[in-house]
Amino acid sequence: MQIPETMKALTVRPGPVYQLERIPTPRAGEGEVLIKVEACGICAGDVKARQKAGQMWDRPDNPDHSIPGHEFFGTVVEIGEGITAVSIGDRVISEQIVPCWNCRFCKTGHYWMCRESNIYGFRGNPDGGMAEYMIFPAGAIIHKLPADMPMEQAVLIEPYACGKHCVDRSKAGNEDVVVLSGAGCLGLGMLGALKLRQPKQIIVLDVRDDRLAKAKAFGADLTMNPAKEPVADQVRALTDGLGCDIYIEATGYPQSVEQGLDMIRSLGTFVEFGVFNDKVTTDWTVIGDRKELNVLGSHLGPYCYEPVIEWLASGKLPSDGVVTHQFPLERWEEAFATAQSDPQAIKVVLVPGLQV
Ligand SMILES: [Zn+2]
Ligand SMILES: [Zn+2]
Repeated sequence: MQIPETMKALTVRPGPVYQLERIPTPRAGEGEVLIKVEACGICAGDVKARQKAGQMWDRPDNPDHSIPGHEFFGTVVEIGEGITAVSIGDRVISEQIVPCWNCRFCKTGHYWMCRESNIYGFRGNPDGGMAEYMIFPAGAIIHKLPADMPMEQAVLIEPYACGKHCVDRSKAGNEDVVVLSGAGCLGLGMLGALKLRQPKQIIVLDVRDDRLAKAKAFGADLTMNPAKEPVADQVRALTDGLGCDIYIEATGYPQSVEQGLDMIRSLGTFVEFGVFNDKVTTDWTVIGDRKELNVLGSHLGPYCYEPVIEWLASGKLPSDGVVTHQFPLERWEEAFATAQSDPQAIKVVLVPGLQV
């Protein structure tokens, strides 16, 4: 396959300035793989990074530009020396973090907390997938995709892997009433993974009714809208006045934290996944003295890509209608605006091959 000398890429340069430009197509060096990008999802994290783009330039080693995007997949078009696990023509995805394999976390199997924190598309290194081509650097964790997996599924592997990890953190079991707060792309991925653990009951909360309808279609036992209903009272009423066993926070809104601490039972498990724009304050007495809660965090999707790929392919993880919008790279600005504020949007995707 002919690799063109230049490619279209959405770049971020100091300023910060986001723009679509033509830059030299990267080539695969030793231990690297060059991918022709099929699609790249826009994450809430990408939208937030653009709003607070100063964060992109906080590293002394950052290059003069950066390409965002960590929800990508594509086809191998060039392999560097030493690559044997994949071949040209394979459809592949790389986990969103490229571990250093040398730090204490990497050496003990906790590669997702690698001290280098080399997540594609952030902080300038490595470049992400909002371009026609991208490099999977040496050390990347690469997985193969079925040749016939639709784009609408493949582009969800990254967020769904994060969702599965979060749900695994909760250790939800068959006796548990689980409240899942947030039915965006991540929350819907969590719902699918949660269903497979077969808890007693799954209650999904969101302030958008269309998302609640989707959650219902994806198997939620109950849905409630906190903007319209006294959800904490309702959850207590369903649980003999005790509250839910597990609360998963996947909205990134401070009210959702407060709401969770209110409706969770004593000795319950609270899992935080959301990313917040501002600091959250709450009464920590509830966590300790009053309820003796387990409060857990969740980051990325370690050891989750393989099962998620398999479960998406077999239909065990529902994904219908999660991708709501597709744009070519040229319309990136509209795509970001849609992801940020279109009330119909769940997952907005950039597709480099799409007709402008
Ligand atoms: Zn993301
Ligand atoms: Zn490391």
